[in-house]
Amino acid sequence: MGRGNWQAVRDAAVERDARDPLREFRAQFHIPPGPDGSPESYLVGHSLGLQPRRTADFIADELATWRACGARGHHEGIRPWMPYHELLAEPMTEILGTLPTEVVSMNSLTTNLHLMMVTFYRPTAQRHRILIEEHAFPSDQYAVASQIAWHGFSPESSLIIARPREHEHLLREEDICDLIRKHRDSLALVLLPGVQYYTGQWLDPSSIVDTAHRNDIVVGLDVAHAAGNVPLTLHHHHIDFAVWCTYKYLNSGPGSVGGCFIHESHAHQTSLPRFAGWWGHDQASRFRMGDTFQPIPTAEGWQLSNPPILSLAAIRASLEVFREAGGITPLRVKSVALTGFLEQLLLEHLSERVTILTPSSPDARGCQLSLEVQSPHMPGRQLQQELQSLGIMTDWREPNVLRAAPVPLYNSFEDCARLVESLSTLVQ
Ligand SMILES: *Cc1c(COP(=O)(O)O)cnc(C)c1O
Repeated sequence: MGRGNWQAVRDAAVERDARDPLREFRAQFHIPPGPDGSPESYLVGHSLGLQPRRTADFIADELATWRACGARGHHEGIRPWMPYHELLAEPMTEILGTLPTEVVSMNSLTTNLHLMMVTFYRPTAQRHRILIEEHAFPSDQYAVASQIAWHGFSPESSLIIARPREHEHLLREEDICDLIRKHRDSLALVLLPGVQYYTGQWLDPSSIVDTAHRNDIVVGLDVAHAAGNVPLTLHHHHIDFAVWCTYKYLNSGPGSVGGCFIHESHAHQTSLPRFAGWWGHDQASRFRMGDTFQPIPTAEGWQLSNPPILSLAAIRASLEVFREAGGITPLRVKSVALTGFLEQLLLEHLSERVTILTPSSPDARGCQLSLEVQSPHMPGRQLQQELQSLGIMTDWREPNVLRAAPVPLYNSFEDCARLVESLSTLVQ
């Protein structure tokens, strides 16, 4: 395509950015510089979200309290650490669609997945199977297979894999329901992604939960790629438990603390078996240092340790940016437009070279598009590196997908246009 036409694409992007009511939020983030010193088109918020400018101050506040108060900081200072995690509960409920008593920020995602399976995967000789999707995120696969083995079963016979149909890339909810019905007598747990990390597919859990619950099967969701990306309604959907991390779309920094959702129908049941620690113990008597564990009758009853305050401070900073933007609803409106714009440009200019694996319906995807790229002169991984040298960050996932996620808080329509223009030059 000629230079003039790309100029028209760029102009259209600039015009869309000018009309974007959330455009000012980009300035709330540190955008890494590309090789030429200008801000990168950072399209990997699905991997590690960017740093909000205020995060340093939020962390500095807690360092100051520690400096000035030492151990007294647990009870003194502007925000005492003892109830610090409570400051996160309410904003988290908005992002995840939960009741305040159903969420807790703690540990990392994989640890939380194990803790949830300790409570919700209690296999018997008859019911010992776990259903997961094909090519689930490796950590989830390892966690699930190791739980099965730890209980003395074998992953070969206890894992049920939900697959796309032949010649298809995506899962169909009705096929998952069929699979649940087929294995209803031996299934103990269905563990599915909110948004699938590889394809970007956003599953609708309604019929799946319905089918599973009708057969007394627990449903867990891994919402690592959904939290902060799409509006979630975990409570309303009656998900039994969910886990997430906060360093992807929740912009809280590398390895930051993750979280758990436990539906209120379970969260209040202090008799549910769990791995216990002192931070899950009833707050009023925690420091009597008694010998008997008495769980808090909410999701907090699954806490093990006192939480890393510096990491929680970074989450608070990020959640405040979400709140100022009006929450997930207006962000989602922009997100649908932004990803739709990227999709439209890809279809118009690269349809011979690029297959979009992600569903075309906005209701079945978040912000990420997963692209299968035919590039005759360049392997896919090199393509990602060439884009990087042009200041455009995407990522490459084996076997053959380039992922790009325009994030409504800090990406622009111009970022999308830059990706498509550069990609089309590279795949010629
Ligand atoms: C990002 C991600 C993880 C990462 O797990 P950690 O325990 O935070 O390292 C796990 N599962 C899924 C589906 C993910 O997307």
